[in-house]
Amino acid sequence: MDAQALLKSVFGYDRFIGRQEEIIAQVLSGGDALALMPTGGGKSLCYQIPALILPGVAVVVSPLIALMRDQVSALIQLGVRAAALNSSLAPAEAADVVRRLSQGELDLIYVAPERLVMPSFLSLLDRSRPGLFAIDEAHCISQWGHDFRPEYRELAMLGERYPGVPRLALTATADTPTRADILDQLHMTTARVFACGFDRPNIRYTVAPKEGQARRSLLSFITEGHAGESGIVYRSSRAKVEDTAKWLAEQGVSALPYHAGLSSQERERNQDAFMRADDMVMVATVAFGMGVDKPGVRFVAHLDPPKSLEAYHQETGRAGRDGLPAQAWMAFGLSDVIVMRKMLEQEPDSPQRRLKFRKLEALVGFCETPGCRRQALLGYFGESLAEPCGNCDTCLSPVEAVDGTIPAKKALSCVFRTGQRFGVGHLIDVLLGHRTERVESLGHDQVSTFGIGPEFSKRQWTGVYRQLLGLGALDVDPQFGGLALNARSWEIMKDQLPVRLRLDPDPEPKARKRKGSGRDKARSRFAEEFLAGEREQKLWDELRAWRKEQAVRQGVPPYVIFHDRALLEVAARKPATDRELLAVPGMGQAKMERYGEGLLALLQDFYGREGRGESSVPPPVAAIVPDREQPEAGERPTALESLRLFKELGDVAAVAKARGLTATSVYNHLLPAVRQGLLDAAQVFPLPEEDLRKVRRVLFSLMEQGVFELKPAFDLLGGRYGYELLRCLRAEMGREG
Ligand code: ADP
Ligand code: ZN
Repeated sequence: MDAQALLKSVFGYDRFIGRQEEIIAQVLSGGDALALMPTGGGKSLCYQIPALILPGVAVVVSPLIALMRDQVSALIQLGVRAAALNSSLAPAEAADVVRRLSQGELDLIYVAPERLVMPSFLSLLDRSRPGLFAIDEAHCISQWGHDFRPEYRELAMLGERYPGVPRLALTATADTPTRADILDQLHMTTARVFACGFDRPNIRYTVAPKEGQARRSLLSFITEGHAGESGIVYRSSRAKVEDTAKWLAEQGVSALPYHAGLSSQERERNQDAFMRADDMVMVATVAFGMGVDKPGVRFVAHLDPPKSLEAYHQETGRAGRDGLPAQAWMAFGLSDVIVMRKMLEQEPDSPQRRLKFRKLEALVGFCETPGCRRQALLGYFGESLAEPCGNCDTCLSPVEAVDGTIPAKKALSCVFRTGQRFGVGHLIDVLLGHRTERVESLGHDQVSTFGIGPEFSKRQWTGVYRQLLGLGALDVDPQFGGLALNARSWEIMKDQLPVRLRLDPDPEPKARKRKGSGRDKARSRFAEEFLAGEREQKLWDELRAWRKEQAVRQGVPPYVIFHDRALLEVAARKPATDRELLAVPGMGQAKMERYGEGLLALLQDFYGREGRGESSVPPPVAAIVPDREQPEAGERPTALESLRLFKELGDVAAVAKARGLTATSVYNHLLPAVRQGLLDAAQVFPLPEEDLRKVRRVLFSLMEQGVFELKPAFDLLGGRYGYELLRCLRAEMGREG
């Protein structure tokens, strides 16, 4: 059978994605390859399909036992002859694997690098004729990579010992030095390199200003959009991990901690529980990472900032590996910038320290950007994205960026006038003219900057200081945290460096909360987007319960039985026959034989109780998620597609209907065009000019008073005009010039 036929019959998929097809062709032709794909890009198929075609056994080198175990269980479910050989096996099991290997009964064998290079294993391999070597997590071979494993170095000998056997190295880490080093270390001089780009279009990026208790914002983030889903929360220290995990559990979220301070048994137990549950949140330090290849992680949240944008990309990449919509959410605030800068200021000057400063600036720049987050993130990795993505917080609800020279100068001169040793809280008291005890006792009500900043709120001044710190235009006293001016501050003071500032957006309007959405009823937003009605969502819940039962019975994680994607498709299509069931993506022959009957029985029972209703082929994920990976399919970024359709149909409701989206999403898609002057608010909202003028007046007068939130405008207008309209007019007013 050829690759295409195997893709359908074994894996149940219709089309290859990304560069899978090219990579498979290269390997089948006997050549070496290095595949660089983001997490979730579909690396495994690149060697699993050749393994079924090439003669002999395919040897997969994998650094972690947990990774091997999951991949092997998933393959067995698909009816593929696969096994792993590692120290977790009982002697009898290991002996059986060795027997099957030497009798040519295996298509794939998973081993750790240490095992592969053992003389006993090599002589076993010599006899069983390997057909392919796949080196997974290949960055482990490079000391430039972040998970250097010296054992990987010995894999260099494979080329000499097995000439002509193709080698495929795979990794999601792809900076240039690591890439070159992998090829070098493996002596893969003639390998073709396939790079797939860093973008993960199904991940929605959001950076929320950190205010008060960040864990409260985390809780609303979880309960309002991700109730009952899997997620990872990253924290910077063991104590914070423990605290957050405990607190979340008290709030009714099923959560466990993971950090290097736990015993290895506890760590393994918690990781296992996370992999096996489909509604668990893991609160962890960065010790939790490699080997977490659970496909249905719906969100990754950072309550403390990551070390760098590389780390951020890697950590958030663990969300949405199944290609379904997922979120990366970070709470970021002034104190984070101060802590990070303070730590760096303490180090003696060195090239490493300067590099760390640059990385910190890039990270802060990403957090503060008024533009598209994805453009900022990809830009950092040297990739460019021509249009704003339509799937990040700043695209979905644009923030205003204003000329910040005057506020920046006020903030900086206040630092200077008070003697360059105070923290932000006190500085803001002075700017706002608050006669606190401290202000009076220090005589700071006498300095020239006392009371010069009434145009902003405390929150907005905090934002100004945060951004100045982010720009490197203030120094932090490493011991006491007081702020002082530096060369860059003086450039701003002397008008030599223009400053643009971002005004933090208003918090999510509460109006969007669904009626009666108590925590128990809170649902996952993505299932709602994907499934048409209550009935389908009920079916989805029953299918998940059924899957859970199968998983427990077989002692494997639920996603090994079926991915969420496959079950969502079943819930939407509501198949009633073998044929209809077989058409569901992810339903291969073996799965059909194993589960077809049981699933159809469950479905018949469900239709009997609840009725079947209409069955529908759900919109492709690409309609929910902007997908630029497959331009050949005629897909466009979703925001642009909405804009194009709007220009054709001239009506938001019609666009929403045509695209199967909510009107709110369509309005959000149109905002960038309004901001850029490609559309006028009056076109989007065909209201009498008089109404528009009234709303503009209210917005404008509030802005003049330094109020940029929409809620006050909404209230002042008696709730007669929706947030969509307010946001649209605000975007129009924010046009350049
Ligand atoms: P990676 O190892 O690159 O992170 P995986 O190999 O685990 O990614 O694949 C990610 C997800 O994409 C898996 O759920 C897999 O089943 C799915 N997938 C892979 N190839 C295809 C395809 N051609 N069509 C649809 N889904 C695919
Ligand atoms: Zn964007």
